[in-house]
Amino acid sequence: MVNERNKKLGEARSVIREIFEYGNARKQQIGADKVFDFSIGNPGVPAPPEVNEEIVRLTTTMPSLALHGYTSAAGAPEVREAVAQYIRTAFGVPVTAEGVYMTCGAAASLTITLNALCEPGDEFVVITPCFPEYIVFIESAGGKVVPAACDERFHLDMGALDAAIGAHTKGVILNSPNNPTGAVYTREELSALAALLARKSEERGAPVFLIADEPYRELTYGAAVPYPMAYYPHTIVCYSFSKSLSLAGERIGYIAVSPQCENAQDVFSAVCGAGRALGFVCAPALFQRVVAKCLGHSGDIEEYRKNRDLLLGTLTACGFECVPPEGAFYLFVKSPEPDAAAFCERAKKYELLLVPSDGFGVKGYVRISYCVERAVIERSIPAFRALAKEYGLLK
Ligand code: PLP
Repeated sequence: MVNERNKKLGEARSVIREIFEYGNARKQQIGADKVFDFSIGNPGVPAPPEVNEEIVRLTTTMPSLALHGYTSAAGAPEVREAVAQYIRTAFGVPVTAEGVYMTCGAAASLTITLNALCEPGDEFVVITPCFPEYIVFIESAGGKVVPAACDERFHLDMGALDAAIGAHTKGVILNSPNNPTGAVYTREELSALAALLARKSEERGAPVFLIADEPYRELTYGAAVPYPMAYYPHTIVCYSFSKSLSLAGERIGYIAVSPQCENAQDVFSAVCGAGRALGFVCAPALFQRVVAKCLGHSGDIEEYRKNRDLLLGTLTACGFECVPPEGAFYLFVKSPEPDAAAFCERAKKYELLLVPSDGFGVKGYVRISYCVERAVIERSIPAFRALAKEYGLLK
């Protein structure tokens, strides 16, 4: 009667959402200050002042019909030009407005790109652990997911990638800074990846596309974030302002197709066609114009850094094993027992809401999202200590 696949997707909320909803219910029962919800990646610092200033400026100076009406499907021309100009200046790659397509955030950027590229039999490689929705997006586009594990420091494992990329690989999704590990891939890693993809493209006789999912680009703690398009020609950047400008609910981002992609014009036409087929019509008109004036800005990253340092210090002192995150706002912690879901259940006893790693495609870890108010972390310290004691990590 209905599409079974979609029915299942609708019934089974993501694990992250499930825990988030549990946290909301629990807060109602025992009080918000007693629950330590580290489940979701909703930015915890306000949008930078430029965002509100631009909203006020636009809504008071631009005629309402012009401001709120449909834009061209790919975005308002002046916004596409501003994005292209920013990319050229910031990263030294020759992107033009004709290669920029405004979207409703990274989720839309990814679904449109995958639908634009995917033909029957195509495979897409994801580096695990990975953002769980990649699986939904790839399979919904008709593709097959092929995982390639990262190394033990959460960086690229070239051997695993070499083994995963084959004759049917249409693309590789790269996410740096990474959700859930916080890894930021280095220039050397991008060079090695570019060389591998070039070799694989040659063997395949067609490009293996690099799909760079970049919602956390600006959120780093000192690590440089090399621009993938500068390393590899067949690159499509899927950007979002959700995290950098704390605009997650406003749904705004873009796709940038490298002009150096093989058949770049066709790739861009397929992006436009996929956006049309998926019914996106155009990205939110007001926010297209707002972000055009805030390119390269971000919320106060220092707040995230302080959260990271406090949490990392606390967990390390408790005896938990963590790799310091270089960017984004997640800490990926080794579960002290092999079953991460069982560990999360035990953590719940102390009102600590953590996400087991199984949904990210690996076992034995938990993700802690630290884009929360500092007070939540401060109040949670005794709970983490009690949990560590239960596992004998702390005397
Ligand atoms: N990609 C990654 C790695 C993410 O972490 C997220 C959101 O958390 C998204 C894509 C989707 O972002 P958006 O809210 O811009 O759709």
